[in-house]
Amino acid sequence: MSTERFVVLGNGGAALYAARAARQSGFPGEIHLVADSEGPAFNPMLSPYYFKGKVSWEDCFPFGEGFYRDYDLVCHFGDPAVSLAAARQRVILGSGMELPYDRCLIATGTSPVIPPVPGLRESPRAFPLRSAATALKLEGAMRAARKAVVLGASMVGLEMAEILTRKGVKVVLFDVVAQVLPRGTHPSIAALLRTYLEEQGVEVRLGCGMEGMEGAEEGVVCRFSGDVIEEADMVVVSTGVRSNLAFLDRDEVKTELGVLTDERMRTNVENLYAAGDASQALNLVSGRQDWMGTWGSACYQGRTAGQNMAGKEAVYTGTLPENITPLFGWHYAQMGDIQPKEGVVRHCACGDPRDGGYYLLVFQDGRLVGANLINCTRHAGLIRQAILQKWRCEGLAQEGEWNDPLPETVGTAILEACLAERSVGRTAMR
Ligand SMILES: Cc1cc2nc3c(=O)[nH]c(=O)nc-3n(C[C@H](O)[C@H](O)[C@H](O)COP(=O)(O)OP(=O)(O)OC[C@H]3O[C@@H](n4cnc5c(N)ncnc54)[C@H](O)[C@@H]3O)c2cc1C
Repeated sequence: MSTERFVVLGNGGAALYAARAARQSGFPGEIHLVADSEGPAFNPMLSPYYFKGKVSWEDCFPFGEGFYRDYDLVCHFGDPAVSLAAARQRVILGSGMELPYDRCLIATGTSPVIPPVPGLRESPRAFPLRSAATALKLEGAMRAARKAVVLGASMVGLEMAEILTRKGVKVVLFDVVAQVLPRGTHPSIAALLRTYLEEQGVEVRLGCGMEGMEGAEEGVVCRFSGDVIEEADMVVVSTGVRSNLAFLDRDEVKTELGVLTDERMRTNVENLYAAGDASQALNLVSGRQDWMGTWGSACYQGRTAGQNMAGKEAVYTGTLPENITPLFGWHYAQMGDIQPKEGVVRHCACGDPRDGGYYLLVFQDGRLVGANLINCTRHAGLIRQAILQKWRCEGLAQEGEWNDPLPETVGTAILEACLAERSVGRTAMR
């Protein structure tokens, strides 16, 4: 019988894929799972679908209660990791318990970032969205609300704007940045989406930062830059997330936004691994270790870590940053890198969101590196493939600003080539 012990920090997709992969790879020793909350793992990305009535509350817990028993896990629920002594290979929990380990995985995910606005953090009417507990609180507040401020025009902010509007709640969407979806969306697409949101009844105020918030009983008064004042029953806070790494000594374990990992999900410290939203791993477009922030990559990284912890030689081959979201009946997809920092960057746009789809393609030194697609069901898969294969588009490496569009004909030629040959390689690209 093995006396080895693994400690897995976290109770999300990355943690549970790791624990399961370790068992399936034949690890017979103890696996301790440390979680700051009670109960089975919650999938945060399903809460918008739950609010829309598309999945049940039970469906938001995809691993179920039996998972921990089936994979013989020793659970420390409601007892967070508060310190990690990586060189001594032990984790200290909130209860004071010390857990020595042979191998440890950091899979503690992220928490919402609450901007340091006076009155916001402590307000009972401000609602971030991440855990099962925050989803239930938000759901309760939505039932009684007539007007909501959504703070942050992120993907989650836009999804919540739709959910609230469809429930008959008046929504005012604010962001300090001058466009919606500042991460991964080209400004011209962002402008198009903004107009569409407004057509659906969402009031959009950009370049407007929150400066204060007062009141609680009868609702709140929110103060914004430019003397803008908005009264509301609730504030949805969707202003981004930060990896949960407060228990780490960052001089000991290398981090940027998350813990840096290699292709086997190992950190710079021996016997310490990281996966999911708490980590950074290979981005297939940039070739860098980036923070990915998606369920699929978290689970894939967790599985790879678990296999390696159990002695297999598994490699995380990387993922394409992408996000697909429904928005008031439209389908919006972001793929790859929309704002590359180096090289000659050009873009082209073509099509019509209401007739066959709208495409924005981004090229870096002549290679397709990113796309924003609205309602592009016909070509989306092929464009994704083309980005993954870094296909080269002849003649696009000439000088030009990234906001200096290429002729629409370049885009339509690429799309026609996609459809005609099921491969963009031979005509427009190679
Ligand atoms: C509203 C919303 C919508 C989303 N939509 C999408 C989408 O459409 N597509 C997509 O791919 N992704 C989406 N995501 C992102 C996706 O949910 C995450 O990328 C994924 O859940 C990350 O998994 P994880 O296991 O790394 O982290 P998490 O799911 O965050 O799990 C981390 C776990 O660690 C626990 N923990 C934290 N700190 C400690 C500690 N100190 N000690 C012990 N335990 C701790 C947490 O409680 C949690 O159980 C969405 C997220 C949200 C919030």
